[in-house]
Amino acid sequence: MKLTIPDYTLAIAPYAPGKPLEALEREYGITGSIKLASNENPLGPSPKAMAAMQAAMTRMHRYPEEPGYVLLQRLAAHLAVPSEQIIIGNGSDDLLGMLSRALLQPGDEVIVPSPSFLMYTIVVQTAGAAAVQVPLRDMALDLPAMLAAVNARTRMIFICNPNNPTGKAISQEAFDAFLAAVPDNVLVVVDEAYIEFVRQDGCLRGLRCLDNETPVVVLRTFSKAYGLAGLRVGYGVMPAELADVINRVRMPFNVNAMAQAGATAALDDDEFLQKTLSLVHTELDIFYSALDARQIRYFPSQANFFLIDVGQDAAEIYERMLRLGVIVRPMTGYGYPQFIRINVGLPEENQRFIEALDRVLQPD
Ligand code: PMP
Repeated sequence: MKLTIPDYTLAIAPYAPGKPLEALEREYGITGSIKLASNENPLGPSPKAMAAMQAAMTRMHRYPEEPGYVLLQRLAAHLAVPSEQIIIGNGSDDLLGMLSRALLQPGDEVIVPSPSFLMYTIVVQTAGAAAVQVPLRDMALDLPAMLAAVNARTRMIFICNPNNPTGKAISQEAFDAFLAAVPDNVLVVVDEAYIEFVRQDGCLRGLRCLDNETPVVVLRTFSKAYGLAGLRVGYGVMPAELADVINRVRMPFNVNAMAQAGATAALDDDEFLQKTLSLVHTELDIFYSALDARQIRYFPSQANFFLIDVGQDAAEIYERMLRLGVIVRPMTGYGYPQFIRINVGLPEENQRFIEALDRVLQPD
Protein backbone atom coordinates (compact mmCIF):
# COMPACT_ATOMS: atom_id res chain seq x y z
CA MET A 1 0.00 0.00 0.00
CA LYS A 2 1.19 3.51 -0.79
CA LEU A 3 -0.92 5.19 1.87
CA THR A 4 0.63 7.80 4.10
CA ILE A 5 -0.13 6.64 7.63
CA PRO A 6 0.80 8.86 10.57
CA ASP A 7 3.61 7.46 12.72
CA TYR A 8 1.43 7.97 15.77
CA THR A 9 -1.24 5.67 14.33
CA LEU A 10 1.32 2.97 13.59
CA ALA A 11 2.63 3.33 17.16
CA ILE A 12 -0.71 2.21 18.63
CA ALA A 13 -0.76 -1.28 20.14
CA PRO A 14 -4.29 -2.58 19.43
CA TYR A 15 -6.45 -3.19 22.51
CA ALA A 16 -6.37 -6.86 23.55
CA PRO A 17 -9.77 -7.78 25.00
CA GLY A 18 -10.49 -10.79 27.24
CA LYS A 19 -10.84 -14.00 25.25
CA PRO A 20 -14.50 -14.64 24.33
CA LEU A 21 -16.05 -17.95 25.43
CA GLU A 22 -16.97 -18.80 21.83
CA ALA A 23 -13.35 -18.36 20.70
CA LEU A 24 -12.01 -20.61 23.47
CA GLU A 25 -14.51 -23.35 22.74
CA ARG A 26 -13.88 -23.17 18.98
CA GLU A 27 -10.10 -23.22 19.35
CA TYR A 28 -9.84 -25.91 22.03
CA GLY A 29 -12.84 -28.01 21.01
CA ILE A 30 -14.32 -27.86 24.53
CA THR A 31 -17.72 -26.92 25.92
CA GLY A 32 -19.03 -25.64 29.24
CA SER A 33 -16.20 -23.17 29.80
CA ILE A 34 -16.47 -20.08 31.98
CA LYS A 35 -15.20 -16.53 31.55
CA LEU A 36 -13.99 -14.32 34.40
CA ALA A 37 -11.83 -12.09 32.20
CA SER A 38 -13.78 -8.98 31.19
CA ASN A 39 -15.45 -7.76 34.38
CA GLU A 40 -18.89 -8.60 33.00
CA ASN A 41 -22.01 -9.21 35.08
CA PRO A 42 -22.53 -12.99 35.49
CA LEU A 43 -26.27 -12.63 36.21
CA GLY A 44 -27.07 -11.81 32.59
CA PRO A 45 -28.82 -8.65 31.41
CA SER A 46 -31.36 -6.91 33.64
CA PRO A 47 -34.76 -8.63 33.07
CA LYS A 48 -36.47 -5.25 32.67
CA ALA A 49 -33.93 -4.31 29.99
CA MET A 50 -34.60 -7.58 28.15
CA ALA A 51 -38.37 -7.01 28.18
CA ALA A 52 -37.95 -3.45 26.91
CA MET A 53 -35.66 -4.59 24.11
CA GLN A 54 -38.11 -7.26 23.05
CA ALA A 55 -40.84 -4.64 22.86
CA ALA A 56 -38.54 -2.30 20.91
CA MET A 57 -37.76 -4.93 18.25
CA THR A 58 -40.73 -4.03 16.10
CA ARG A 59 -39.39 -0.48 15.70
CA MET A 60 -35.96 -1.45 14.40
CA HIS A 61 -36.71 -0.31 10.85
CA ARG A 62 -36.58 3.29 12.15
CA TYR A 63 -33.52 5.32 13.10
CA PRO A 64 -33.41 6.09 16.80
CA GLU A 65 -34.51 9.49 17.97
CA GLU A 66 -31.53 11.84 18.06
CA PRO A 67 -29.88 12.35 20.49
CA GLY A 68 -31.68 9.69 22.54
CA TYR A 69 -34.29 11.89 24.16
CA VAL A 70 -35.93 9.26 26.39
CA LEU A 71 -32.65 7.83 27.71
CA LEU A 72 -31.21 11.31 28.26
CA GLN A 73 -34.29 12.41 30.23
CA ARG A 74 -34.23 9.22 32.30
CA LEU A 75 -30.51 9.67 33.03
CA ALA A 76 -31.01 13.33 33.91
CA ALA A 77 -33.65 12.33 36.49
CA HIS A 78 -31.51 9.47 37.79
CA LEU A 79 -28.43 11.65 38.25
CA ALA A 80 -30.25 14.89 39.10
CA VAL A 81 -28.39 16.87 36.44
CA PRO A 82 -29.82 18.69 33.39
CA SER A 83 -29.88 16.53 30.24
CA GLU A 84 -27.79 19.20 28.46
CA GLN A 85 -24.87 18.01 30.58
CA ILE A 86 -25.08 14.38 29.43
CA ILE A 87 -23.66 12.73 26.30
CA ILE A 88 -24.53 9.09 25.62
CA GLY A 89 -22.11 6.76 23.87
CA ASN A 90 -21.64 3.35 22.32
CA GLY A 91 -20.11 2.19 25.58
CA SER A 92 -17.99 4.56 27.61
CA ASP A 93 -15.19 3.73 25.15
CA ASP A 94 -17.10 5.89 22.65
CA LEU A 95 -16.95 8.80 25.10
CA LEU A 96 -13.18 8.35 25.41
CA GLY A 97 -12.91 8.53 21.62
CA MET A 98 -15.11 11.64 21.44
CA LEU A 99 -13.08 13.44 24.12
CA SER A 100 -9.93 12.72 22.19
CA ARG A 101 -11.33 13.75 18.79
CA ALA A 102 -12.82 16.96 20.12
CA LEU A 103 -10.07 18.14 22.41
CA LEU A 104 -6.66 16.76 21.50
CA GLN A 105 -4.12 17.49 18.79
CA PRO A 106 -0.52 16.48 18.07
CA GLY A 107 1.86 17.98 20.62
CA ASP A 108 -0.65 17.83 23.48
CA GLU A 109 -0.02 15.76 26.59
CA VAL A 110 -2.47 13.72 28.62
CA ILE A 111 -1.66 12.30 32.03
CA VAL A 112 -2.73 8.69 32.58
CA PRO A 113 -2.22 6.42 35.57
CA SER A 114 -0.22 3.27 34.96
CA PRO A 115 -1.24 0.55 34.98
CA SER A 116 -4.83 1.44 34.27
CA PHE A 117 -7.42 0.98 31.54
CA LEU A 118 -5.39 0.67 28.33
CA MET A 119 -7.91 2.55 26.17
CA TYR A 120 -6.85 5.89 27.72
CA THR A 121 -3.45 5.63 26.09
CA ILE A 122 -4.91 4.37 22.82
CA VAL A 123 -7.38 7.24 22.38
CA VAL A 124 -4.70 9.79 23.24
CA GLN A 125 -2.36 8.29 20.64
CA THR A 126 -5.17 8.32 18.07
CA ALA A 127 -5.08 12.11 18.15
CA GLY A 128 -1.28 12.21 17.85
CA ALA A 129 -1.04 13.43 21.46
CA ALA A 130 1.31 11.94 24.05
CA ALA A 131 0.13 9.85 27.00
CA VAL A 132 2.31 10.63 30.01
CA GLN A 133 2.27 7.53 32.19
CA VAL A 134 2.34 8.13 35.95
CA PRO A 135 3.01 4.94 37.96
CA LEU A 136 0.59 3.92 40.70
CA ARG A 137 1.68 4.09 44.31
CA ASP A 138 0.70 1.10 46.49
CA MET A 139 -1.56 -0.06 43.63
CA ALA A 140 -3.59 3.19 43.77
CA LEU A 141 -3.56 6.41 41.71
CA ASP A 142 -0.73 8.69 42.85
CA LEU A 143 -2.52 12.03 42.70
CA PRO A 144 0.46 14.17 43.84
CA ALA A 145 2.66 12.58 41.16
CA MET A 146 -0.05 13.11 38.54
CA LEU A 147 -0.27 16.76 39.56
CA ALA A 148 3.51 17.10 39.38
CA ALA A 149 3.38 15.82 35.76
CA VAL A 150 1.18 18.75 34.65
CA ASN A 151 2.91 21.25 32.38
CA ALA A 152 1.94 23.80 29.73
CA ARG A 153 1.20 21.04 27.17
CA THR A 154 -1.16 19.11 29.49
CA ARG A 155 -4.76 19.04 28.19
CA MET A 156 -6.35 16.20 30.11
CA ILE A 157 -5.88 13.91 33.12
CA PHE A 158 -7.51 10.49 33.40
CA ILE A 159 -8.67 9.29 36.80
CA CYS A 160 -9.92 5.70 36.94
CA ASN A 161 -11.93 5.21 40.11
CA PRO A 162 -11.89 2.41 41.17
CA ASN A 163 -8.83 1.69 39.10
CA ASN A 164 -8.83 -1.12 36.58
CA PRO A 165 -6.92 -3.47 37.05
CA THR A 166 -5.96 -2.89 40.72
CA GLY A 167 -9.44 -2.25 42.15
CA LYS A 168 -8.22 0.57 44.42
CA ALA A 169 -10.39 3.64 44.94
CA ILE A 170 -9.35 7.15 45.91
CA SER A 171 -10.97 9.34 48.54
CA GLN A 172 -13.15 12.36 47.90
CA GLU A 173 -10.88 14.34 50.20
CA ALA A 174 -7.70 13.50 48.27
CA PHE A 175 -9.41 14.19 44.94
CA ASP A 176 -10.84 17.54 46.07
CA ALA A 177 -7.36 18.74 47.05
CA PHE A 178 -5.99 17.48 43.73
CA LEU A 179 -8.73 19.12 41.66
CA ALA A 180 -8.24 22.45 43.40
CA ALA A 181 -4.60 22.41 42.29
CA VAL A 182 -5.19 21.37 38.65
CA PRO A 183 -5.00 24.38 36.29
CA ASP A 184 -8.45 25.27 34.95
CA ASN A 185 -7.46 24.73 31.31
CA VAL A 186 -6.92 21.00 31.99
CA LEU A 187 -9.86 18.60 31.75
CA VAL A 188 -10.10 15.95 34.50
CA VAL A 189 -11.86 12.80 33.27
CA VAL A 190 -13.17 10.63 36.10
CA ASP A 191 -13.94 7.15 34.77
CA GLU A 192 -16.46 5.50 37.09
CA ALA A 193 -17.05 2.28 35.16
CA TYR A 194 -17.11 0.32 38.45
CA ILE A 195 -18.38 2.96 40.89
CA GLU A 196 -21.56 1.03 41.79
CA PHE A 197 -19.49 -1.74 43.41
CA VAL A 198 -17.54 0.49 45.83
CA ARG A 199 -17.89 -0.32 49.55
CA GLN A 200 -15.16 2.01 50.85
CA ASP A 201 -16.36 4.96 52.96
CA GLY A 202 -15.41 8.39 51.71
CA CYS A 203 -14.76 7.23 48.15
CA LEU A 204 -14.65 9.88 45.42
CA ARG A 205 -17.98 10.36 43.63
CA GLY A 206 -17.21 12.42 40.55
CA LEU A 207 -20.69 13.88 40.24
CA ARG A 208 -20.16 15.81 43.47
CA CYS A 209 -17.43 17.81 41.72
CA LEU A 210 -19.59 18.75 38.76
CA ASP A 211 -20.93 22.29 38.84
CA ASN A 212 -21.31 23.19 35.15
CA GLU A 213 -18.11 25.28 35.39
CA THR A 214 -15.28 23.07 36.59
CA PRO A 215 -13.69 21.13 33.70
CA VAL A 216 -14.60 17.66 34.94
CA VAL A 217 -16.19 14.79 32.99
CA VAL A 218 -17.64 11.77 34.77
CA LEU A 219 -17.88 8.60 32.68
CA ARG A 220 -20.26 5.77 33.52
CA THR A 221 -21.31 2.56 31.80
CA PHE A 222 -24.15 0.07 31.57
CA SER A 223 -21.61 -2.70 30.82
CA LYS A 224 -20.83 -3.75 34.39
CA ALA A 225 -23.36 -3.39 37.21
CA TYR A 226 -26.28 -3.20 34.74
CA GLY A 227 -25.25 -6.33 32.85
CA LEU A 228 -25.39 -4.83 29.35
CA ALA A 229 -21.79 -5.08 28.06
CA GLY A 230 -22.87 -6.49 24.70
CA LEU A 231 -25.36 -3.69 24.14
CA ARG A 232 -22.66 -0.98 24.33
CA VAL A 233 -24.08 1.95 26.29
CA GLY A 234 -22.19 4.43 28.40
CA TYR A 235 -22.45 8.13 29.14
CA GLY A 236 -20.50 11.18 30.18
CA VAL A 237 -21.65 13.96 32.49
CA MET A 238 -19.91 17.32 32.02
CA PRO A 239 -20.44 21.09 31.92
CA ALA A 240 -23.07 21.93 29.27
CA GLU A 241 -20.56 24.03 27.32
CA LEU A 242 -18.28 21.03 26.96
CA ALA A 243 -21.20 18.75 26.05
CA ASP A 244 -21.94 21.14 23.21
CA VAL A 245 -18.36 20.74 21.96
CA ILE A 246 -18.43 16.94 22.29
CA ASN A 247 -21.71 16.79 20.38
CA ARG A 248 -19.91 18.17 17.33
CA VAL A 249 -17.74 15.05 17.02
CA ARG A 250 -20.38 12.52 18.12
CA MET A 251 -21.60 10.29 15.29
CA PRO A 252 -25.35 10.54 14.72
CA PHE A 253 -27.25 7.56 16.16
CA ASN A 254 -24.13 6.43 18.04
CA VAL A 255 -26.34 4.64 20.60
CA ASN A 256 -28.65 2.38 18.66
CA ALA A 257 -32.40 2.20 19.27
CA MET A 258 -32.25 -1.23 20.92
CA ALA A 259 -29.53 -0.03 23.26
CA GLN A 260 -31.46 3.11 24.17
CA ALA A 261 -34.52 1.03 25.06
CA GLY A 262 -32.52 -1.50 27.09
CA ALA A 263 -30.48 1.07 29.01
CA THR A 264 -33.54 3.20 29.85
CA ALA A 265 -35.33 0.17 31.32
CA ALA A 266 -32.20 -1.01 33.16
CA LEU A 267 -32.18 2.23 35.15
CA ASP A 268 -35.57 1.23 36.56
CA ASP A 269 -34.39 -2.24 37.54
CA ASP A 270 -33.14 -1.53 41.03
CA GLU A 271 -33.89 -5.08 42.08
CA PHE A 272 -31.40 -6.39 39.51
CA LEU A 273 -28.77 -3.84 40.53
CA GLN A 274 -29.11 -4.76 44.21
CA LYS A 275 -28.93 -8.47 43.38
CA THR A 276 -25.74 -7.81 41.40
CA LEU A 277 -24.10 -5.82 44.18
CA SER A 278 -24.98 -8.39 46.79
CA LEU A 279 -23.59 -11.24 44.65
CA VAL A 280 -20.35 -9.37 43.95
CA HIS A 281 -19.78 -8.40 47.58
CA THR A 282 -20.60 -11.83 49.00
CA GLU A 283 -18.52 -13.68 46.43
CA LEU A 284 -15.52 -11.32 46.73
CA ASP A 285 -15.39 -12.10 50.44
CA ILE A 286 -15.64 -15.84 49.73
CA PHE A 287 -12.76 -15.53 47.23
CA TYR A 288 -10.63 -13.66 49.76
CA SER A 289 -11.17 -16.38 52.42
CA ALA A 290 -10.37 -19.15 49.92
CA LEU A 291 -7.13 -17.41 48.91
CA ASP A 292 -6.20 -16.60 52.53
CA ALA A 293 -6.60 -20.28 53.38
CA ARG A 294 -4.15 -21.12 50.57
CA GLN A 295 -1.78 -18.28 51.47
CA ILE A 296 -2.07 -16.89 47.96
CA ARG A 297 -1.49 -13.14 47.72
CA TYR A 298 -4.31 -11.03 46.29
CA PHE A 299 -5.35 -7.39 46.32
CA PRO A 300 -8.74 -6.57 47.88
CA SER A 301 -10.77 -4.50 45.47
CA GLN A 302 -13.59 -1.94 45.34
CA ALA A 303 -14.77 -3.25 41.96
CA ASN A 304 -16.21 -6.53 40.65
CA PHE A 305 -12.72 -7.88 39.86
CA PHE A 306 -9.40 -8.24 41.66
CA LEU A 307 -5.77 -9.17 41.14
CA ILE A 308 -4.15 -12.41 42.26
CA ASP A 309 -0.38 -12.88 42.50
CA VAL A 310 0.17 -16.39 41.13
CA GLY A 311 3.91 -16.20 41.93
CA GLN A 312 4.89 -17.43 38.48
CA ASP A 313 4.45 -16.55 34.82
CA ALA A 314 0.84 -15.36 34.53
CA ALA A 315 0.74 -16.05 30.78
CA GLU A 316 1.54 -19.69 31.49
CA ILE A 317 -1.12 -19.93 34.22
CA TYR A 318 -3.60 -18.31 31.82
CA GLU A 319 -2.86 -20.95 29.15
CA ARG A 320 -3.17 -23.81 31.63
CA MET A 321 -6.48 -22.46 32.91
CA LEU A 322 -7.78 -22.09 29.35
CA ARG A 323 -7.25 -25.82 28.88
CA LEU A 324 -9.47 -26.35 31.94
CA GLY A 325 -12.12 -24.14 30.35
CA VAL A 326 -11.56 -21.14 32.62
CA ILE A 327 -10.78 -17.76 31.03
CA VAL A 328 -8.91 -15.26 33.22
CA ARG A 329 -6.89 -12.17 32.25
CA PRO A 330 -3.10 -12.37 32.48
CA MET A 331 -1.68 -9.00 33.55
CA THR A 332 1.60 -9.26 31.64
CA GLY A 333 0.63 -6.44 29.27
CA TYR A 334 -0.20 -4.25 32.29
CA GLY A 335 3.30 -4.64 33.78
CA TYR A 336 2.36 -7.37 36.29
CA PRO A 337 3.88 -10.52 34.76
CA GLN A 338 2.94 -12.69 37.75
CA PHE A 339 -0.61 -11.43 38.31
CA ILE A 340 -3.92 -12.51 36.87
CA ARG A 341 -7.17 -10.53 37.10
CA ILE A 342 -10.49 -12.24 37.58
CA ASN A 343 -13.98 -10.86 37.97
CA VAL A 344 -16.67 -12.25 40.23
CA GLY A 345 -18.80 -14.87 38.49
CA LEU A 346 -21.71 -16.97 39.69
CA PRO A 347 -20.99 -18.92 42.92
CA GLU A 348 -20.42 -22.18 41.00
CA GLU A 349 -18.12 -20.42 38.51
CA ASN A 350 -16.08 -18.93 41.33
CA GLN A 351 -15.78 -22.34 42.97
CA ARG A 352 -14.66 -23.80 39.67
CA PHE A 353 -12.02 -21.10 39.34
CA ILE A 354 -10.59 -21.95 42.77
CA GLU A 355 -10.47 -25.65 41.85
CA ALA A 356 -8.76 -24.82 38.55
CA LEU A 357 -6.28 -22.56 40.34
CA ASP A 358 -5.44 -25.38 42.76
CA ARG A 359 -4.81 -27.65 39.81
CA VAL A 360 -2.60 -25.28 37.83
CA LEU A 361 -0.57 -24.16 40.83
CA GLN A 362 0.08 -27.76 41.93
CA PRO A 363 0.23 -29.67 38.66
CA ASP A 364 1.05 -33.04 40.25
N1 PMP B 1 -13.44 2.20 31.71
C1 PMP B 1 -12.94 1.16 32.36
C2 PMP B 1 -12.10 1.41 33.57
C3 PMP B 1 -13.18 -0.16 31.93
O1 PMP B 1 -12.66 -1.18 32.59
C4 PMP B 1 -14.00 -0.35 30.80
C5 PMP B 1 -14.33 -1.71 30.25
N2 PMP B 1 -13.48 -2.70 30.45
C6 PMP B 1 -14.48 0.78 30.14
C7 PMP B 1 -14.20 2.04 30.63
C8 PMP B 1 -15.29 0.68 28.87
O2 PMP B 1 -16.49 0.13 29.11
P1 PMP B 1 -17.66 0.22 28.04
O3 PMP B 1 -17.10 0.76 26.76
O4 PMP B 1 -18.15 -1.18 27.91
O5 PMP B 1 -18.66 1.15 28.65
